[in-house]
Order: sequence, then structure tokens, then C-alpha cells
Amino acid sequence: MVEKVSYVEVTCSHCEGLGCIYCDKKGCVPVKAPAKKCRHCEGEGCIYCGYTGWAGLKGKYD
Ligand SMILES: [Zn+2]
Ligand SMILES: [Zn+2]
Repeated sequence: MVEKVSYVEVTCSHCEGLGCIYCDKKGCVPVKAPAKKCRHCEGEGCIYCGYTGWAGLKGKYD
């Protein structure tokens, strides 16, 4: 069984929506719903969240 995972777009914490290399210059990133701040850095950005400040980043695993 494959669970269907939905994603939501959230504002990248690293650039606060301006666009940076971590969000592919989009200013937002897709994260697993419901969106949660990264528990490692509490939104500051670290290696675990790909420097976006969010947990469950699409394509990466927490
Ligand atoms: Zn960004
Ligand atoms: Zn983090």
C-alpha cells in the first residue's frame, strides 16, 4: 500500500520569499502537509531541512 502524501507550498525561511538557491529561486517550497517547522532548527535553517526551515521537504526525508 502506498499512502498518498499531499504537499503544501510554504514560504522559504531562508530567503523569506525572495528566492534563493535552497528554494530554487521560487521563494516557496513544497513540504508534506500539514506544514511543520523543522524540529532541528525551529525554522532557522539547517542541513536537515535543506536550509528552508521546514520539515518534510519534498524529495528529502527528515
Ligand atoms: Zn529561499
Ligand atoms: Zn532545519
